[in-house]
Order: sequence, then structure tokens, then C-alpha cells
Amino acid sequence: MAKSHEKKFNWDICGHERIASFLQSAIVSNKLSHAYLFVGPAGVGKYALSKQFIKSIFCLRFDEPLPCGECSNCQQLEREMHPDVYLIQRLIDEDTGKWKKDIIIDQIRELKLKLQQTTLLSGYKAALIPEAQLINEHAYNSLLKILEEPTAKTIIILLTDDFRKIPATIVSRCQTINFLPVASGVLENYLLRFEVEAEKIKLVSRLAHGLPGRAINLLRDEESLAQLQLNLKFFSEIVRVSSSRRLNYLEEIINWEKDETQNAAKIGRLLDDWQAALRDLLLLTQGDEYHIANAEYLKVFSELKEKFDWRRILQVASLLQTARELLQQNINTKFVLENLIINL
Ligand SMILES: [Zn+2]
Repeated sequence: MAKSHEKKFNWDICGHERIASFLQSAIVSNKLSHAYLFVGPAGVGKYALSKQFIKSIFCLRFDEPLPCGECSNCQQLEREMHPDVYLIQRLIDEDTGKWKKDIIIDQIRELKLKLQQTTLLSGYKAALIPEAQLINEHAYNSLLKILEEPTAKTIIILLTDDFRKIPATIVSRCQTINFLPVASGVLENYLLRFEVEAEKIKLVSRLAHGLPGRAINLLRDEESLAQLQLNLKFFSEIVRVSSSRRLNYLEEIINWEKDETQNAAKIGRLLDDWQAALRDLLLLTQGDEYHIANAEYLKVFSELKEKFDWRRILQVASLLQTARELLQQNINTKFVLENLIINL
């Protein structure tokens, strides 16, 4: 068996080398924290990296680069069926058939009981909570107790794209790791594994703004790529229409669904895409054409540049942020969007 310090790793991730090597050395030196908080935008790779991290802790093949992907632990983890690894997600509401809006205290209490039981395999136990910002207040109090009195050989990993929603008491008990968007060159290299024409890979790796999860989604789902391009077009057009005509224009563009959850998802996506458009505009005001995500829009954005100095860009960015917050508070989506576009 290789000595522990010689242990090699084999993590299938896109970017985040420094984070990976930090966590790998914690495994090798046996200095794992009881709790980690991974912070970063949706699609940046927090979940993918957590999976590699957990697999490497549980993998049974010490003589192979970790994780081996073949031992029973790796296989069970791949199927998200390992008996000592708990994935805590929102539950489905039995009455409505939809996701509940938050993670509730019963789930955390149940987790506490499971963590206290001795494991059959006498190894580690781990809990992974991908949307930690959705843990409700009571549940947080219960989680805090778990973090305050950690059981041995237990690792809790919280993931969030909204750090502000995580209570300071929780943050102070976790090792916080920030995930930044991946460089577009790194992303492009990673995407070469998909058998798609080179042009499309180039386009997608820029449009995804350093978010591998987003890039993969755009590659696999033609519709979401088309929607993104439509959203960018929509942005470039709406800011040129006079404020009084914008509401009519909105009605032509958006197909409102009957289901508000669908509307919220659609408008959330649109806000993300518009934020990406703003980033491109900001690059243009700095004379940087090279990093523009969507070359097709270079011309359109170059024209918009005249209307958008950096002050205006920051102003619009803050409007987008407000809209996002209103959406999270379940304010009517149509109202949120109307309110946004008349102020653009
Ligand atoms: Zn393994």
C-alpha cells in the first residue's frame, strides 16, 4: 500500500485546483474539518467537487488514485445510495406534488439521529446539503447543535449560492471555501470531452461565464442555449425601446405560464442572462473585446456601449439584484419584471 503522503488523486472536476489540492491534503494528513461551507454561484462546481471529496474519503482502494470509482463505496456514492452519506434536500409536498420551499427541522433532527448511530462500516459519516440557504430558521438551530457537538468521524458539507442567507453562527462553525468562476480557457478544455463541434464549445464556454454546470447544461440542452440567446437579444432591444412602450413589448416577448414556479424559474434565468450581458458591457467599456461571451452580440453591445457607462451599468446591476430578491420573496413575477424594465 502506498504511504499516505504519496496518495494520488484523480478528481474529475473543471478548474478549482487550489480548492481540490487543499481538500486532498486534508484527507492525506487526516485533518478534515467537521463542517465545510462551499460558497459560489450555481453551476460553478460545488456539488461536483463535493462528490469527489466525499468519494475520496470513503474510497476503499488506498493503492489507487482516489477515488477509484470501482469499489463498493465509490459505486454506492455514484448512485447516491451509500448508507452513511446523507443528502439533505427539500422534500416533495404530498398535497401539491411540488418541492417544499425550505428544508425543515424534522429533516435535520433525523440527520442528527443518524449521525449519532454507530456506522455498520465503522468509517466516516457525511451529510451533504446542496441548498443550505433554504434551511429554515428552526432547522438552522437544530443544525447548529449538531455543529456545536460534532460526533467523531463526521463531515457536514453545506453548499450555497447565497452566502448572506447563512446565519453567522453557522458560518463560524464551518470551514468556508469560496468557489470563483473558472477561466474560460480551462472551461473550454474541459468541454472538449463532449463530442460537439469546436465552434459551439467555444461559444458555450464563453456564454457560461465560468460556470461549468451552466456550460454542460447549454451543451446538452439546445433549448436553453436558444433561450439564453433570446434573453440577450431581448435585453439589447428593450433598453432601446422608450419606457412607455416597454410594457407592451414585454407582452410580445414573454409567454407567461399559469404556474408561478415556472414563471419564477424563467425570470430567474432571464435575470442571470441579463447580468451576463452587463458583464459584457462592462468589458466593452474597458475596451476588452476579447473576453466578450457572445461574439454574435459584439456588434449589438458595441452600440449599447454608448448608452451604458460604468455608472449606469452598476445602477442596472443593482436593479437586477433587487428584482432577484423580490422573486425570492415570492412576489408576483410579472410585477417584478414590469417594475424592472420600466426602470432600466
Ligand atoms: Zn473507490
